[in-house]
Amino acid sequence: MSREHPAEFASASVRSIAPYTPGKPVDELARELGLKDIIKLASNENPLGASRAALAAMQAALAESWVYPDGSGHALKQALAAHYGVAPAQLTLGNGSNDVLVLLAEAFLVPGTEAVLSQYCFAVYPLAVQATGARQVVVPAHPASHASMPLGHDLDAMLAAVTPATRLVFVANPNNPTGTWVSAAALEAFIAKVPASALVVLDEAYFEYAGDAGCGDGLAWLERYPNLVVVRTFSKAYGLAALRVGFAASHREVADVLNRIRQPFNVNSLALEGARAALADREHVARSVALVAVERPRLARGLAARGFAVLPSAGNFVLADCGDAARAAKLHAFLLRQGVIVRPVGNYGLAQYLRITVGLEAENTRLLGAIDAWLAGGAH
Ligand SMILES: *Cc1c(COP(=O)(O)O)cnc(C)c1O
Repeated sequence: MSREHPAEFASASVRSIAPYTPGKPVDELARELGLKDIIKLASNENPLGASRAALAAMQAALAESWVYPDGSGHALKQALAAHYGVAPAQLTLGNGSNDVLVLLAEAFLVPGTEAVLSQYCFAVYPLAVQATGARQVVVPAHPASHASMPLGHDLDAMLAAVTPATRLVFVANPNNPTGTWVSAAALEAFIAKVPASALVVLDEAYFEYAGDAGCGDGLAWLERYPNLVVVRTFSKAYGLAALRVGFAASHREVADVLNRIRQPFNVNSLALEGARAALADREHVARSVALVAVERPRLARGLAARGFAVLPSAGNFVLADCGDAARAAKLHAFLLRQGVIVRPVGNYGLAQYLRITVGLEAENTRLLGAIDAWLAGGAH
């Protein structure tokens, strides 16, 4: 009798997956170091929290927790359709946009097909692709020496990597963890050239924060490009990361496919109600965006003044260059001891950088002060 462990029967592609590394939870650091008053600038959450209207809507929905949620997400889809000017039939709701990204991979990728993604792209794309056994084509990003968008997506190279076997092309605009973006004009020209046999998955998780960076609005292009899928989330500017709700807007035929394979109740009732109220609370979104508009440049200037080159960012975070991997690791460890959690990005092949979420004014000031203490300590 062989003594194989059942886990060995998982597919080779699944077994090759490196699990996603999340930002360190506050409670975990508190347990490990016995610290109080910890701040987390590691997962691009909204430091203003959830909107009060969303909290109230969820409180009201709580009593109905014994009933299955509306599996069609009717009310949220109606609200999204009205807000964004798309048809409800173009929408697919997900348990976070992560769910929608996985659904796209499950629906369109099989062994023998290919997905094109950029070096330094969001880690969920390779995870979703690898599970299917499809070939992952990773296109080198712009080099760190690039004049305008270091480490950004190279759309020309991505287009050149598309073959008749390509089914999905992932573009994050702006991208996480780099913060970099592509211009609306360059992106639309790119989408226009991708053949109909491949879907362009345009992930706009940070859309609200991009402001006047010139990223464009993927939803406005859906009419023209039937092979475009725009993915949005309630986890970032809407402040509902724990609720897990996101959506895709696409051609209705694509939405029809995705809606066939999703779990019947993939978005829970609290998330449906919370998201609907959050969408309507424009004031909360505006305040969240305004905070980042002020604090992102201040944080970037503060880091630059302390000798850390910062990549251009259109998200609610910045990527700071610590010079080399050892220095980044030392600073990360020091900041943890000070109760400041930032995100190491070695899993992205970016070990010399740290990704820092834009927090409240006082949080950003505390981070900069902790860096001053590190620099003054001379241990770097
Ligand atoms: C945070 C993030 C998301 C959102 O993920 P959810 O599953 O919706 O929480 C999607 N894409 C990118 C690039 C992100 O950084």
